[in-house]
Amino acid sequence: MQDLATPLAAWYATAARDLPWRRPGFGAWGTLVSEFMLQQTPVARVIPHLQAWLSRWPAPADLAADAPAEAVRQWANLGYPRRALWLHRAAVEIRDRHDGVVPRDVETLLSLTGIGDYTARAVAVFAYGDRHPVVDTNTRRVLARAVEGRAQSGPPSRRDLDAMEALLPADVATSTVVNAAAMELGATVCTARAPRCDACPLASACAWRAAGYPVTEDRRRRQARYEGSDRHARGAVLRTLRDAAPRPVALAEVIAQWPDPAQRDRAIDSLIADGLAEASEELLRLPR
Ligand code: SF4
Repeated sequence: MQDLATPLAAWYATAARDLPWRRPGFGAWGTLVSEFMLQQTPVARVIPHLQAWLSRWPAPADLAADAPAEAVRQWANLGYPRRALWLHRAAVEIRDRHDGVVPRDVETLLSLTGIGDYTARAVAVFAYGDRHPVVDTNTRRVLARAVEGRAQSGPPSRRDLDAMEALLPADVATSTVVNAAAMELGATVCTARAPRCDACPLASACAWRAAGYPVTEDRRRRQARYEGSDRHARGAVLRTLRDAAPRPVALAEVIAQWPDPAQRDRAIDSLIADGLAEASEELLRLPR
């Protein structure tokens, strides 16, 4: 396989965006929180929320000492609010089982609530500087194009990690940079809709470009419409509870004007099932 690591690392040294979690001394807790927030959420939306979160709770024990409801309130409109609850649970676990220190090894990280394979690897690599392949959606697209000659990546699989492992240099410090560089390239240059091959450090090595950009099967799922969806209803219920907190809201008044009462009830039920809301005596509130 061609050496893609060297051009990636050289490009990253000059082209990487200055993002908070890339600054020296950002710390493992900050990295963990940023990775939770960045799931399904654009960088620009995450940054102010991340700063506010870390100012309020600079260490896992600080968050663990507060109620889960405070985590959900602080999460505000970042979307997928179960992440706030999981982050709170993970903070409690870090305080109780790991002396308040974010674990370093992937297996231990995986034992924390809400941490999947990607996040565990990202923390081990970006916070602690260890050598593991880390593959997100952007990296998968770069690998699919540059290495496999396909237009888009398929569903996530173990193959992605193997492909990234094969690309990483043995040197641990450089491997960290190459992991970050592949992600950054996918986020800023090799984008899904409009890859800028003229600005790409892999242009001369890219298999998809060399093959003349063949159209290959795109199996990505289309994002479902948000407006009027169950997710929309859940978001509206949660906003009502956040605005009222710490007071509860009468069940009958929770988004009473919502056009579809069955959808409203479904939203309430699913929030209770997810632990994001508590119901008692016809009242609904954030979890205490
Ligand atoms: S040459 Fe173009 S398609 Fe290939 S990796 Fe670079 S930006 Fe992506």
